[in-house]
Parts: sequence; C-alpha cells; structure tokens
Amino acid sequence: MSILRFKVVEEAFKKKAIDVQAPAKCMSEFYGKYVFSYSVMKKYLSKDTINIIKDAVEKGCTLDRSVADHVAAGMKLWAMELGATHYTHWFQPLTDGTAQKHDSFIDYVDGPGENITEEFSGKLLAQQEPDASSFPSGGIRSTFEARGYTAWDPSSPAFVMDDTLCIPTIFISYTGESLDLKAPLLKALNAIDKAACDVCHYFDPHVKKVSSFLGWEQEYFLVDEGFYAIRPDLLLTGRTLLGHESAKNQQLEDHYFGSIPTRVTAYMKDLEFEAYKYGIPLKTRHNEVAPNQFELAPIYNETNLSIDQNLLIMLLMKKVARRHGFRVLLHEKPFAGINGSGKHCNWSIGTDTGVELLTPGKTPEENLRFITFLINTLMAVYKYNGLLKASISSASNVHRLGAHEAPPAIISAFLGTQINDILDNMEKSTTEKIIILDKKKKLRLGIAHIPEVMLDNTDRNRTSPFAFTGNRFEFRAVGSSANCSSAMTALNAAVAAQLTDFKASVDAKIEKGEAKEKAIMDVLKVYIKMSKPIRFEGNGYSQAWKEEAQKRGLDCETSVPDIFKAYTSEETVNMFVSTGVLSRKELEARNEVKWETYTKKIQIEARVLGDLTINHVIPTATRYQSLLLDNVCKIKSVYPAEKSEELSAMNASLVEDIAKHVKAVKSNVNAMIEARKVANKITDEYQKAVAYHDNVVPYFEVIRYHADKLELIVDDEMWSLPKYRELLFIR
Ligand code: ADP
Ligand code: MG
Repeated sequence: MSILRFKVVEEAFKKKAIDVQAPAKCMSEFYGKYVFSYSVMKKYLSKDTINIIKDAVEKGCTLDRSVADHVAAGMKLWAMELGATHYTHWFQPLTDGTAQKHDSFIDYVDGPGENITEEFSGKLLAQQEPDASSFPSGGIRSTFEARGYTAWDPSSPAFVMDDTLCIPTIFISYTGESLDLKAPLLKALNAIDKAACDVCHYFDPHVKKVSSFLGWEQEYFLVDEGFYAIRPDLLLTGRTLLGHESAKNQQLEDHYFGSIPTRVTAYMKDLEFEAYKYGIPLKTRHNEVAPNQFELAPIYNETNLSIDQNLLIMLLMKKVARRHGFRVLLHEKPFAGINGSGKHCNWSIGTDTGVELLTPGKTPEENLRFITFLINTLMAVYKYNGLLKASISSASNVHRLGAHEAPPAIISAFLGTQINDILDNMEKSTTEKIIILDKKKKLRLGIAHIPEVMLDNTDRNRTSPFAFTGNRFEFRAVGSSANCSSAMTALNAAVAAQLTDFKASVDAKIEKGEAKEKAIMDVLKVYIKMSKPIRFEGNGYSQAWKEEAQKRGLDCETSVPDIFKAYTSEETVNMFVSTGVLSRKELEARNEVKWETYTKKIQIEARVLGDLTINHVIPTATRYQSLLLDNVCKIKSVYPAEKSEELSAMNASLVEDIAKHVKAVKSNVNAMIEARKVANKITDEYQKAVAYHDNVVPYFEVIRYHADKLELIVDDEMWSLPKYRELLFIR
C-alpha cells in the first residue's frame, strides 16, 4: 500500500497548471450566459409578461397559469438554444446542499405513438411533485400528508447547467408546511421587509420596500485528488479523522501573504469564468491563513439570490476542481491543528429609495435612523443569541468554533470603539440633551458626529461572531459547508420581530403625546441598557470571556444536540410564529431532522475511524513492529548477552511502545463500537443524538491520539495514508 502513497506524491508533484483561457475577450459577452435574467427574458418574453413577473417578485405573489405558460415557453426556447434537453426543480432540502430530479422535455404529440415533441408548460414550471419520501422531514410528511411539492420561486432566476434547465423552487407539504430551507427564508425576508418598512416610515413615508442583502465569503481547502482518493476519511466524511500535525503548518503565516500557487490560480480563473456565466459576480480571491486554504467572495446581492448563488458556486467549485486534479474541501475543519473554514455572512438592509439602513448618514435625522436600526439589530442578537448559535451549529462546524481564528461558541456583537462610545454616551445622557427640537421643530441630535467610514482593518476583531464593519454586520460564525439560509432566516426573522416590538413601543409613546424623536430615543435608550450583555470587544477565545458570558446570561451551551433546543424555546417559537416564518410543528419537526443528521454524521465518522485504525493503522504498525522484533532477535543471536541487551534496547522499547498504542487504539475502538450499539437502540432522536455526543464522540480524540503517535513511530515508507505535510503542501 505504501507504494501507492508514494506514487501519488510523485504524480501530484509533476502536475502542471492547466492553461485557462477567457471564453471571450469581453466579459459582458458571457456574463450571465446561462441565466434566464430579466435582460435575457427580453429576447424571449413580451414586455408585459416581464413586467408581470417583476411585479409578482416585488409583491411576493404567485403568477397565474396563462402567464406561467408564456414564461415556460420562452424559458424552454432559451434553454434548448443552450443545449438543454431536461429540466428540474432545484430545491434545498433540510440536509445541506441542493436536490434535483431531471425530467426530459420529451412528450408524445397525441398520446402514445411514434411522434414526440418537446414539452414544457406553465404547469411544469410552476409546480412539481418530486418523489420526496426519502428527504428528511422530521415526521411532517407522515404526520400531515404524504406528499410534498416544489413550487417555482420567480425571485431567483432559472439557469442551465450542463443539459438541464434548473428552476429554483421551494419545497412544501400539501398541508403547507415547509420541507426545505428556502420557504422559511422567503417568509423571513418578507417579515423584515414589512417590519423595517414600518419603522422607516418614521423617517421617510415614501419607502415601499426594504430588502435584506447578503455578501458571503466562502473559505475552502484544495487537495490533490490523488491524496483525496487514498484518504477514506476525506472521501467519506470530508475531514481527516487521523493525521499527525505537519512540522510546518501555518506558524510562519507565509501562506496568507504568499502568492497564489500556479495550479490554484488556474483553478480560480477557471472557476471565475464559470461563475460569471452563471451571473455570480465573484470579486475577491486570495490565499487564507492555513496552507492550501483559500477564499472567494462575490459582490453582495439580495439575500435569496445570494444564497442560491452560494449553493451554485459550491457545486461549481467541486465541478471545476475535478478539471484541475483537485478536490475541494468545504468542511469546516478538514485538518486538526490549523484554521478551519467559515462562510462569513455580510448582512445589511436597504430601502427601495436607495438608503442603506446600517450606514451612518450625514445629517442628524439620518443618524437617528441609523442608530435605530443598529440598536434594534443588537437587541435582536441579544434576545435570540441562543437561536443564532443554533442556526449555525452542526456536527462539522462545532470543530471550528472556538478554535484558532474562528469565533467562539458564544454569540456576541462587536461594534468598535466609535459606535460603542456613541451608545455609551446616549445611555448616560438624558433624552432632552440628545434630542433638541428648536422653535421651527428642527431636530438637532446631541450625539457625536458619526463619520462615514469608521472602521479600518486594525479595528477588526476576528474573534467576534457578529461584528459591525461600518455599513453592515458580519456574521462570522456561519460554517463553510452550510447553506446560509438557516442563519439568514434566523437573523432576518429575529430583527423583523424586534423592529415590530420597537414600533409598538414607540407608537404607544406617540399616542400619549410624546414627540416622535423623543419617543424613539426613549425606547432606544432602554434597549441600549438591555442589550448590553451582547456587546463584547475583547478576546473571544479567553477563559475569562467564557466565565463573563455565563454571568451575562448569554447562551454558553457547547453540546450541539442541546444547542438545537434554542429552536423550540418559548421565545423562539413566539418569534417565528409572530413573524409568520415557521410554526411550532415545523420547528419541532426540523429539530428532529437536525438531531437525526447529527447522529448520522457522527455515526459515519465513528465507522470510518474504526475502519481506518483497524485496517490501516494497526496492520502497518504491527508490520513495523515485526521488523523491529526481527532486528532485536538477530542482534541477540549475533552478539553476547550483555552487548546485545545494550544494542537492542531501543528497538525493544519501540516494540513495547507500539504494543501499548496498538492496544489503546484497539480497546478504544471496541469501546466506541459498544457505545454506538447502546446509542443505536435509542428511538428518541434527541436522546440518541445526546448519546452520540456524550458517549461516542469522546473516543475520537483518544483513538486519534494513539494512532497519531503510531504515525510518528512507524517507518515513513510503510505508512499507507498520505500525511498532513503532503495533503497541505503539495499542489
Ligand atoms: P473581508 O475584508 O471581510 O474579508 P471581503 O471583501 O472578503 O471582506 O468580503 C466582504 C463581502 O461583504 C463582499 O461579499 C461584499 O460584497 C460584501 N458587502 C459589502 N458591503 C455590503 C453591504 N452593505 N451589505 C452586505 N454585504 C456587503
Ligand atoms: Mg474576506
């Protein structure tokens, strides 16, 4: 086996960068080529139809059948010109990733016979019934109604991938329960639109729509595909379950500042061209901190669209990587001991009148509005910090949180000194001092002027899970492999609920005769005090912070199955119900899926770890041990007793070391299997996940410790698994 590892090293070393050429001289010639965007529609649909779609998207209503028929006909024509022969409803099941079932356009002309035609009607565009019984639903489908259907989301454009027309859809049960991640997201976006619009009307009665924006930053690792193929743990779990640290990893920080390796540059270029064809505006690419770790980021977009683009780019990343002899690792922690990967979600909200609500303004009125949205966001993060943590938690992201550069497993918000000073001043001053209305009822704000660009990079706190960065919040705790819908649904719904509460409090004061500005300021002052526990500017890794956070009453739970419970707390259920995003039943069913997924992931990892140690590590170590023993015996047969004792002492002790580690690996693997057997008998999904977390996971570290020790002892030539230095430095 060892021969294979060296063969792979040799081959990987020889690989050269692929020559990547731009599809055309001018980017505009191919940008959005595969997307049925409004500008493409112009060629295939009438102006009226396009306007009806635009209107439906804006108002969030459905299209009637005759319009859908028109759209379908145009879409089919366009897709077939690009070589499409099939279509699919592209949806986001509760497991991460996307799902699709391809159907061909073909159909009989007049019933069964010889003649076929290409068919794609409005009915097929608008609704589909995938055989979805194997998608997890947490019992919703068995409880309510056996069938679910996918329904077209016209706010995210259809696209052609390979030979298939892909139509972004939501996935719901016949009784209306969401079975996916997109349906609740759309409801949350609707909720924040309405709630934020109402609050905007304090400042500008002309605002008709508030949109939520998202700019994600996708981190990832690349490994040569040869190594990937002979690391069963990478292949099956997306992360290394074993492997001793490389002597050199990220200590010198030379990767982050270094130039991008040529094979990787070719990959990035190729990926960018591919992304542009799908209308994904990739803007940034660079090396990340860990060796072989990289990042890409597009220009931000409306949240629903941005999420679909992220899901699409994750597919493209994998696809393009194959062309370059790489495999892309989207797992949050593929390698122990070095940085993991996140998907920072830059979030902001803005109006149809062009106002960015989280950007400081030039006038006191604008700044009162800015402060209003900023403080309400803080309040939402404070009230629902447990939920926000649950929204980013998973069996894989847990390895990253609280380690190296990643934020800790406690949600707090970082504001930077300037904003903090402003809030502190507001808290200390009387409302009369802050709000001064002169004789002409002109508003004067007694708070310090807020410069537009407040924060430079030095003021950034990389350890904060939720940081204000001048015109947006950066939710950094989101994991690299996640569908950011979960996080964005929780955040937008929470802020929507908070803005609604705020409006009610302010309106009550106005009704009692208080001036609007004073009423707003009075409520904000209360919020500043209340939300104080969520504000934290210090080092999130420190033990001191963990103790402090506990005292402040923030959610400090670290066990993933228990973290999910925040989804069904009374406050969360009320919040989701009041915003119309998710019902109690849906929340409960979704948690069942989360626990089940958690259990399955740990179960798979445990099996792979067992196989790897029993089939690779122990046999290799034993073979090496035999060689050592052989050597000891030979020394003893050649040299006199005293001399041979001295000469064989080291190898004899290595033989014992190996025996010790092998025994530890074996007995712990056996114990882990026993723990799994016990856990598997539990029928309650929550209890089962807890059993896996409490009784199975702890073995991973012990087993790994001894296996990694064996890696250090055993002759390098005999070791069959690619080592960290090869996975991380050969490209
Ligand atoms: P960083 O310095 O945090 O690594 P990047 O340039 O990698 O920043 O990514 C920042 C992301 O934030 C980009 O996707 C960018 O388009 C996005 N962004 C910028 N302004 C906003 C905004 N107002 N709302 C949402 N996202 C934004
Ligand atoms: Mg970045």
